[in-house]
Amino acid sequence: MSVRVGILGATGAVGQRFIQLLDNHPTFELAAVTASADSVGKTYREAAKWRVNTPIPDDVADMEVAETSPAGIADADVDLLFSSLPSGVAAEVEPAFLEEGYVVSSNSSNDRMAMDVPLTIPEINPGHLDLIEVQRDERGWDGALVKNPNCSTITLVPTLAAIDEFGLESVNVTTLQAVSGAGYSGVTSMEIIDNAIPHIGGEESKMETESRKLLGEFDGAEVALHDADVAASCNRIPTLDGHLENVFAEFADDPSPEELREAMSSFESADLPSSPDQLIKVYGDDEPDRPQPRLDRTYADGMGIVAGGVQETNAGAKYNCLAHNTIRGAAGASLLNGELLVEQGYV
Ligand code: NAP
Repeated sequence: MSVRVGILGATGAVGQRFIQLLDNHPTFELAAVTASADSVGKTYREAAKWRVNTPIPDDVADMEVAETSPAGIADADVDLLFSSLPSGVAAEVEPAFLEEGYVVSSNSSNDRMAMDVPLTIPEINPGHLDLIEVQRDERGWDGALVKNPNCSTITLVPTLAAIDEFGLESVNVTTLQAVSGAGYSGVTSMEIIDNAIPHIGGEESKMETESRKLLGEFDGAEVALHDADVAASCNRIPTLDGHLENVFAEFADDPSPEELREAMSSFESADLPSSPDQLIKVYGDDEPDRPQPRLDRTYADGMGIVAGGVQETNAGAKYNCLAHNTIRGAAGASLLNGELLVEQGYV
């Protein structure tokens, strides 16, 4: 079965990762790429600011960039759209595609916490996808909108889902986030070289709320947020790709570091074409300085999570976790949601 897909915002940091991940995909065939008015009418090769990722596949390089509107992609006969638009733009244009009946798997932060929009990580809460039925009733859309979480949230939540069995009560997390997380033109070299910036606008509240929705219970009508308290402190540092996070967690039970490591490393992956075989790789005490962005971000081709440094504290436990922010944290997350939409019959 072949599914024709398009990418909205295809020329940016995340859009480039979509191109890479869709190259030779077993099911998805790229049929449309869109971007801003500055890029419309150019070939993808001319429009993409191709600085940080892998080379453009030949068949994509010559595609013409279309306008980001239903009319712009009308001739492409697309079944599924991936969206990597800036959130303000997505909030304006995604509804037009949904009204026209398109199924959209989106990275952008608008609507992630809306009660009728599934926020999903296929390995964690695939059942939340059925919120689409509620969404269609409430909004009258023929299409469907699914969101993946913010890149720092996606790095954290698989580890929390794995250790929730010990009665997770509170989480404190400090992030060390790569510059690609801000997009191609997000942070200038003058700001970030020889520096660290202890503020990323909106990121902390996204981690604090999205993680509780992802871990929440869906009863067929709404998602009840998980009751754990989550507090986040977010920092930008001069790495290119890969968000590293330091996590302090408290539990109702008293799990040992061995039990936490075992729960994370045995946490089940999904059975989708782009799922990693093992979702969470965990370093033991013999390698206390891992994970590191440069060494570990390509674990499972960038689709996995890497944890380490699991230790007891007076109040619970602490550990570190890492994921590739533009692959697992963005395009790869959205791609997996697209594969889940196909598996569950929404496409
Ligand atoms: P980016 O590098 O700035 O790329 C933005 C894309 O949107 C480009 O293709 C751009 O086209 C297009 N665009 C901008 N304004 C537009 C408009 N008015 N109409 C149509 N297209 C427009 O951003 P990014 O880092 O890829 O992020 C994209 C989205 O993913 C954002 O919502 C971001 O929050 C989210 N996200 C990013 C990450 C990450 O790690 N980077 C992780 C998770 C989620 P032009 O090239 O023509 O300007």
